[in-house]
Amino acid sequence: MAVALITGANKGIGFETAKQLLELGHVVYIGARDVDRGEKAAAALGARFVQLDVTEDASVSSALGTIDSSEGRLDILVNNAGVLGHGATDGPTALHAFDTNAVSVVRVTEAALPSLRKSSNPTVVNVSSSAGSFWAVTNPDRPEFGLPLAFYSASKAAVTMLTVQYAKAHLGIKFNAVEPGTTATDLTAVFGVGRAPEESAKVVVRWATLDADGPTGTFQDESGEVPW
Ligand code: NAP
Repeated sequence: MAVALITGANKGIGFETAKQLLELGHVVYIGARDVDRGEKAAAALGARFVQLDVTEDASVSSALGTIDSSEGRLDILVNNAGVLGHGATDGPTALHAFDTNAVSVVRVTEAALPSLRKSSNPTVVNVSSSAGSFWAVTNPDRPEFGLPLAFYSASKAAVTMLTVQYAKAHLGIKFNAVEPGTTATDLTAVFGVGRAPEESAKVVVRWATLDADGPTGTFQDESGEVPW
């Protein structure tokens, strides 16, 4: 039985990831920035809840402190919270996208490292995107080629690079970036595309539940490695 924290788990892929990890018998903390939304989601699943705004240092350190005090370790961290970051092409919009999608990975991972080090099988999944793959966005045959989401793509490229750098810096902890698959959630509602979150959560869960000697520093989707 593992202790897991998923950020942005009150809905979408994060919520379904929490549900599936619970079904596997793990202890699951739903991280959500809004107390009401987070408590409702946790109650619906029988999960635990921690208030966690990935853009707020105090919120992040308090959430990880709560889990460490209660559980004494963290085995699985899923950095899932994210925003599309669309709208104006200006500094504040870019900062918000990079803060929520990429800087959050640093903020949450740094706060989680002491608890992850107490695990016998510490695993971090960074929910990235093929929209952040240089290969995909420069390939006219790929849907990412025509995606008009510069800050989303750039911030997810940063998530993937951070995954590789964390994997190199912390050899005892597995860090993998995952493209979950195009999914119908509030994030993609403007495009009206995607499959059910349950399907995409399976990809996240698979990479969150690796054996201790599993791969690290990779970028995966459900078919295998995604070219950078
Ligand atoms: P979603 O349904 O919109 O869920 C996003 C989650 O992130 C929500 O729980 C949201 O909470 C949370 N969040 C946003 N800002 C936050 C903050 N500052 N602090 C804490 N939580 C915050 O979208 P989704 O599709 O499930 O996305 C989950 C992840 O998958 C994202 O990283 C996304 O980039 C990635 N992804 C999605 C797709 C896709 O096709 N959907 C494809 C590739 C990758 P609130 O309810 O409070 O806003």
